[in-house]
Amino acid sequence: VRSEQTMMISLVSELTDQAVKLIQLLEKEKNFAERDSLTGLPNRLALEQRASLLLGAQPKLIIMFNIHRLTYINEQYGRDIGDMVIAIVAERLGKLFPGEGQLFKVAGDEFLAVLDDATLDNGALEYVALDHAALEDSHLEQDAFDHITLNRGAYEGSAQGMSGAKEETKKSLRSKRLEAIHQALHVPVELPDRVLSVQVDIGVALYPEHGADLFDLWRKANLALLKARMHHKRYQLFYPGVETSFLRDLSLKSSLRIAVQHGDFTLVFQPIYDLASERIVAAEVLLRWDEAAPDVLIPLAEELGLMAEIDHFVLTQANAISKMLPVPLAVNLSPTTVAHKKDAGHILSLADPQRITLEVTEHAVTNAAAVKNLRRLQKAGFKIALDDFGKGYSHLALLPELPLTALKLDRFFVQHIHEPRYRIILESIVAIAKHEAYRLELVAEGIEDRASLNFLRSLNIDRVQGYALSRPLPLEDLQKKLHRGDNSFYNDRKLHG
Ligand code: C2E
Ligand code: CA
Ligand code: CA
Repeated sequence: VRSEQTMMISLVSELTDQAVKLIQLLEKEKNFAERDSLTGLPNRLALEQRASLLLGAQPKLIIMFNIHRLTYINEQYGRDIGDMVIAIVAERLGKLFPGEGQLFKVAGDEFLAVLDDATLDNGALEYVALDHAALEDSHLEQDAFDHITLNRGAYEGSAQGMSGAKEETKKSLRSKRLEAIHQALHVPVELPDRVLSVQVDIGVALYPEHGADLFDLWRKANLALLKARMHHKRYQLFYPGVETSFLRDLSLKSSLRIAVQHGDFTLVFQPIYDLASERIVAAEVLLRWDEAAPDVLIPLAEELGLMAEIDHFVLTQANAISKMLPVPLAVNLSPTTVAHKKDAGHILSLADPQRITLEVTEHAVTNAAAVKNLRRLQKAGFKIALDDFGKGYSHLALLPELPLTALKLDRFFVQHIHEPRYRIILESIVAIAKHEAYRLELVAEGIEDRASLNFLRSLNIDRVQGYALSRPLPLEDLQKKLHRGDNSFYNDRKLHG
């Protein structure tokens, strides 16, 4: 009996050991199935299993992230680099969302984060109120800016009362957080032999405002993300009309294709004045389309690969029109046109370098082929101005390599010229441009008032352009201005104001 008992005990204990091992193995396997093998982050399965636990009582942000143009990176640099980019983005996201159950990798290059919406105390309110001046100065999205401004009114004791103020403050804090998240994710990825600029598109849905079901919120955040991507925005909050807006975007795209086929655009001309003689010495050609403003039209056309055709259209028209004018016309060239030898070569046959000058931005000259194309154009006699100079990341080191005749100072600096910390930057640019190694003509654009004009006089600026002198005009109006000879800018009422 005793030996039978011993046998039973040892059998049971052996079975228990086995059971424990089996359970451990199953656990491990389950854990394994719920983790992404590349990044170690909880995956879609994990999210699905925990969906019901994630939302709860507190308001939340459901944030979708998608790596911009990962397919392109995979194709261009290979899958290993693509994987490396995913891993780096995952690591950065992991630092932003360190909490358990906050961050999931839901597909190849898609991440979802669940974040507590800012709960506010008075400290947070103060922080925003103090910081609004700095925010106004920065290039904030209008949406975020409105929230800040509204909040300031409320904070300074408007009739709205504290709860309205809190709501607005919450929105502005939310914008700031999303802004900061976007910035944290937009850092160049350093590879052994090159630097990749990786961007992450962001779409956001709010719980409980936009729904109570995680999967529904996930879908809505995704829609918002697509919208952000389409409009080149840093992030986009879901809104109820977002679905129908895709139809509008779609129809805008097909209208644009048709407009390009038919040349359904008009051109306007903004006079450029000589600062000393106050006479019109040139005019910049600007494209107009009935259906959208240039800041929508140009990115859309770029996305659709239509910029070369548009530039072709503008150049042909401008070249013909310039024959009727006593001054040359400045035409903007898109980076695509500058980058392609064929398109750049086309310009030579389309335009007369005596009548047409070219404006390019620094985005157009980031590779050797583009610089080579520009050199060819310069050899053919075209004058080339570097547009929006000082905006974005200026490639100062590239300046000695570029075949330029002029710099157009970005209007951002002109509009802050009364502030010493901005003026010194302008003064330094002037010093560079006027150095004997460069001898570049300087054009200041975006002049909106007389005070700025007077400041510019004290600098060594050659030419000026801006609403205060003249808005972009239809051809007839430009011709009248030129014909009447009243091109001195003191005829403009706005300057006397
Ligand atoms: P840009 O080349 O910097 O053109 C100057 C822009 O500043 C124009 O905007 C003009 O209307 C605006 N502007 C002029 N004076 C003032 C001022 O005093 N204050 C302010 N705030 N703005 C002023 P627009 O016409 O909306 O064009 C926007 C951008 O679209 C242009 O910037 C250019 O990059 C692009 N673009 C416009 N037409 C063409 C075109 O025919 N071809 C190409 N490739 N790009 C174009
Ligand atoms: Ca321009
Ligand atoms: Ca410009």
